[in-house]
Amino acid sequence: MQIPYGRQNISEEDIKAVSEVLQSDFLTQGPVVPEFEAAIAQYCNVNYAFAVNSATSALHIACLALGVQAKDRVWTSPISFVASANCALYCGAQVDFVDIDAKTYNMCPQKLEKKLIEAKKEGVLPKVVIPVHLCGQSCDMQAIHKLSKEYGFSIIEDASHAIGGKYLGKPIGNCEYSQITVFSFHPVKIITTGEGGMALTNDAEIGAKMARLRSHGINRDTQTMTKEPDGPWYYEQIELGYNYRMTDMQGALGLSQFKRLDDFVSERHKIADKYADLFKDINIVTPYQGETNYSAFHLYVVRVRPDQKNITHKEMFVRLRDSGIGVNLHYIPIYRQPYYAKMGYKPDDYPEAEKYYSEAITLPIYPGLTELQQKEIVKHFEKPYPTGYQTIF
Ligand SMILES: *Cc1c(COP(=O)(O)O)cnc(C)c1O
Repeated sequence: MQIPYGRQNISEEDIKAVSEVLQSDFLTQGPVVPEFEAAIAQYCNVNYAFAVNSATSALHIACLALGVQAKDRVWTSPISFVASANCALYCGAQVDFVDIDAKTYNMCPQKLEKKLIEAKKEGVLPKVVIPVHLCGQSCDMQAIHKLSKEYGFSIIEDASHAIGGKYLGKPIGNCEYSQITVFSFHPVKIITTGEGGMALTNDAEIGAKMARLRSHGINRDTQTMTKEPDGPWYYEQIELGYNYRMTDMQGALGLSQFKRLDDFVSERHKIADKYADLFKDINIVTPYQGETNYSAFHLYVVRVRPDQKNITHKEMFVRLRDSGIGVNLHYIPIYRQPYYAKMGYKPDDYPEAEKYYSEAITLPIYPGLTELQQKEIVKHFEKPYPTGYQTIF
């Protein structure tokens, strides 16, 4: 038996919704994607939502819409998927990282402020900061937003983990403290479209720009064309965009999945609560939940302390994998990736990220994971370890 760390949940209704699109007139650019966008915009209480073919694409057009270009600087969290940083490199910008908070593992606002003070002195302030809501728990957006006003940067929330979560009682994605929020609909995320993502904003101009960029930079709105249309066929490419569109098949799956979003998230909370209960008497660090936060619980990360039962982090990880439990490590600090390491980042600049990387293990969490499976998983943390145990590395 192999238990994955996360997996999609596909219902008969989901299958029916996709089949209906396959039998309809439009496979892409049909009526379903706008319906999906409207449903998410309403749920998040945000003005505009643009579906695209991945969160990576959404992050890219978000950076472009905020004017990120060569010589600009973009800061993000080192404990994230590489896409959170790659989007800035696509625009020719430079990337830097802000160390994480020891408790939440999200970008630390105090460290952000410290770094901003230094950057201001040197005249190297960031144009955009991309906080990542790790595991589905929002960053301290009020603090980051306050700094954005003081130091003049824009904010893209990478909420790839966080659809269905809340911050200060309001839905993540409402863009109250940011210019743009991005969701991912990759199959391991909270809801899926196979591949897919979405960019949300309250700003009409940023929205119009993202809408163009996802479809070749083309404008079809006669109201805003640069000249009188040559005829009814006319459209204008006014900037260099991409084909980042979502198909209607994907939109149909997303819309159908969306109907179960709140159920998915509450089921994830039940699983997290059960883990907390099972780990009660075990010396392991379970996820901290801030009072202002309702996490979407995309990931359940525990930390193995170095002083624990003679077990190293790597040994515990291997033991779980060897027992058929698909644990993972989210994430390898981005600056450690060979592609980034050669740009000269120093791991010593990110002590909390380094510590996290040496202790974190992602345990399975997804709707459908049973209590029996959870007990099975936790049992491995209770077993004393044979001394002299060798890992396969
Ligand atoms: C999954 C993920 C992405 C990329 O999402 P895709 O939809 O696969 O492109 C970006 N950022 C974070 C934090 C993610 O977890």
